[in-house]
Amino acid sequence: MESVLNANSERTLNKPQTRLNKASSGEAFLYWDNISRFNSFRGNKFLLLTYFLISMTYDFIIVGAGIVGLSAAYKLSVIHPGLKILVLEKENRVAAHQTGNNSGVIHSGIYYKPNSYRARNCVQGRHQLVDFCEEHNVAYDICGKVIVATDEKELPRLDAIFETGKINGIEDIKIIDAQELAEIEPYASGLKAIHVPCAGIVDFTDVCIKLRQLIEKAGNRVMLSHPVTHITHSQGTVTAMTPSGAFTAKYLINCAGLYSDRVAASAGVKTPVQIVPFRGEYFELKPKAEHMVKGLIYPMPNPEFPFLGVHFTRMALGGVECGPNAVFAFKREGYDKLSFNLEETIETINFPGFWNLARQHWRMGMEEYYRSLSRRAFVKGLQKLIPSIQASDLIPAPSGVRAMALQPDGNILNDFYIETTRNEIHVLNAPSPAATAGLAIGDEIVQRAAASFGL
Ligand SMILES: Cc1cc2nc3c(=O)[nH]c(=O)nc-3n(C[C@H](O)[C@H](O)[C@H](O)COP(=O)(O)OP(=O)(O)OC[C@H]3O[C@@H](n4cnc5c(N)ncnc54)[C@H](O)[C@@H]3O)c2cc1C
Repeated sequence: MESVLNANSERTLNKPQTRLNKASSGEAFLYWDNISRFNSFRGNKFLLLTYFLISMTYDFIIVGAGIVGLSAAYKLSVIHPGLKILVLEKENRVAAHQTGNNSGVIHSGIYYKPNSYRARNCVQGRHQLVDFCEEHNVAYDICGKVIVATDEKELPRLDAIFETGKINGIEDIKIIDAQELAEIEPYASGLKAIHVPCAGIVDFTDVCIKLRQLIEKAGNRVMLSHPVTHITHSQGTVTAMTPSGAFTAKYLINCAGLYSDRVAASAGVKTPVQIVPFRGEYFELKPKAEHMVKGLIYPMPNPEFPFLGVHFTRMALGGVECGPNAVFAFKREGYDKLSFNLEETIETINFPGFWNLARQHWRMGMEEYYRSLSRRAFVKGLQKLIPSIQASDLIPAPSGVRAMALQPDGNILNDFYIETTRNEIHVLNAPSPAATAGLAIGDEIVQRAAASFGL
């Protein structure tokens, strides 16, 4: 999608908006011009079905079928089974962006500031996710994780993370020495580590496919290839415009990930944050080297930086991934090094927050770019954790792009950030571990909807 505010969307916008004025909420509605269109569709079942779907008023429209949008729809359908829910997704599959291109780690919740939304939702979401996988036959593995200190200077940080983990209630965590580390991960090297037995792996696309099935089984709809180009309001209803028509509901939930700020802006929501995309690039271990990693091997994170550092991840569907680094992406959904979108790049460089961030972290940014261009530098980062890894053990793997919500002063919003209006909820920041926390974020959205909209 190049823009949520393009000329076409403006054109399609006016007619349905006036027609919606008389829509009785929750009911399908017909007007005389719709009836004449209905007559002309009578011979074509597909057009007739499309016509009925478009002319129906829903209780909730959810924009985006990543894990956050699908979890919100699923939780709404379970907690309020009478609601009519429609999910609109611009791609032809679920989990097409962040959710389907991430590391697949079920995070424990050890890192996050106690009492933050991230800490709470990660722990609750992890338990719910594991139960969900059990109940619905989604493959997962609680393979455990080690967070390794490789340098004396990292030991105070190791202690601090361990204490945070205890406050956050992470089960069975333990500080281990080099010998105990070797028993868990024989090829890893470090002075000390935190062993986190409750961390694991899952394929989040599989989770989303199951969520979609459950949403549809409950009588609700997930419509793919339906990009929302604009949002309008009329007499207490909200209308999402797509190239295939207008969809109306009492309430709308924006879970558009990398485009969540644009979707919010198209609804007239003024928010100080802007999404800036960061690409995470990965390698995979060749099969001959996979035996070097049993579970998840992570470095001590740099507290100055929002990412966890390059790590080794055994994948739920097989193989071992290494990475990611983090470089500014010149396109919100730019998965290749050469991906570029002029409009989006101009938008970012016109945002003061980007320059303030660049000023604060330019050295780290340059190192990440160097690692992006030099496999040798990437391998050096990995060798901190597994010294015997060689460049010849790696093959390039697909990358992922993170939506980072930046404030004008250059500060990165680390916690989940949701704005609520009279009949909309906008999820404007759902950073990692939002995939792990998805089901708990779904609960949070339902609670907000109940409190604000009186469900
Ligand atoms: C490289 C990387 C590694 C990560 N690793 C982990 C991990 O190991 N564990 C973990 O818990 N988290 C991880 N995360 C974070 C996690 O993946 C994200 O926080 C989470 O997936 C966000 O989900 P979402 O539904 O908000 O966004 P998305 O998955 O991006 O979904 C948003 C959806 O909205 C759709 N959309 C956008 N605009 C429109 C529009 N106008 N109309 C209709 N649809 C629209 C998009 O097509 C997309 O499908 C990682 C993220 C990245 C990028």
